[in-house]
Amino acid sequence: PLVPGTTFMDDTNVYQMLNKYETILLDCDGVLWGTDHFTHLSGVAKTIEKLRSLNKQLLFVTNNSLHAREAYVEKFHSQAGFHADIEDIFCTAYAAAVYMKDIAKVQGKCYMIGSKGMQDELNKLDIETIGFGPDSDAVSEDIDSLLNQALEDNVDAVAVGYDVNFNYNKLFKATSYLTDPKCHFIATNDLETREMIGKRHCQPLTGALVKAVAAASVRKPEVVGKPHYHLMETILDTHPTVDPKKTLMIGDSLRTDVAFAHRAGISSALVLSGETNEDRLDKLLALPKNSIGQTPDYVLPSVCFLAEFI
Ligand code: PLP
Ligand code: CA
Repeated sequence: PLVPGTTFMDDTNVYQMLNKYETILLDCDGVLWGTDHFTHLSGVAKTIEKLRSLNKQLLFVTNNSLHAREAYVEKFHSQAGFHADIEDIFCTAYAAAVYMKDIAKVQGKCYMIGSKGMQDELNKLDIETIGFGPDSDAVSEDIDSLLNQALEDNVDAVAVGYDVNFNYNKLFKATSYLTDPKCHFIATNDLETREMIGKRHCQPLTGALVKAVAAASVRKPEVVGKPHYHLMETILDTHPTVDPKKTLMIGDSLRTDVAFAHRAGISSALVLSGETNEDRLDKLLALPKNSIGQTPDYVLPSVCFLAEFI
């Protein structure tokens, strides 16, 4: 297919592309492994090794807020077969903690809707968290049982990430804390949903939970994950030598990764191994430009395609 401004990679142009970049940001889900989290793209470890042999700095960037950075070090090691240093991992549980500490300057407690991994990242930066867990406090339909619950004092932030235990009472508490206009409303990311290629299932993502809280509280969230700029700020603070002009984001999502690259002022390569397959790419690129975010600089079948030419 011909897309103005987009190069489709083949055996003639891989080196030319790689020569332009010193730093490569690798999206995780749909790039390092399949969107089902289990099928590992065979050859990822080899590809990582080859890219490193060309002196490329590799950083790992994921919107998934479920896990702390250590869990990624461990997953890369045990399931994907390569090593990464903890400071090279940028997951949104960590990015949310950095945002709360450095930008929102949260001093009091954070009421969180999210996972254990997210709680761990917040606590590590000395942010006191409340709310983690199944929350079965008020199961009655009687409004009094909701109103009789104590709300805590000194709650400076409500943070929303992926939470499989999300329920009405969490929505009720988050909304109540957000009636204080000084209470920050922070979201790890804002993508609402994703269809699973080849399945009837459709996974509600963090953005759907964020939207529920935003609707009930009539507040707008501060969002840290892709495609928003904050994640790039965290990357640049951690690695001040990263040059955006020599940085390439490799991801499987136009609306998240490619849009992030445009906002961050870096280049982008779309892989067709995750949420965007060839069929979907044709359909997405046929839509009016702004409804898909932006077009990628490069398109390639998968990240492992690069290794064939190194
Ligand atoms: N959020 C959740 C809860 C997910 O399960 C996933 C993918 O597994 C994502 C976000 C997207 O992650 P990534 O940015 O690595 O594609
Ligand atoms: Ca992805």
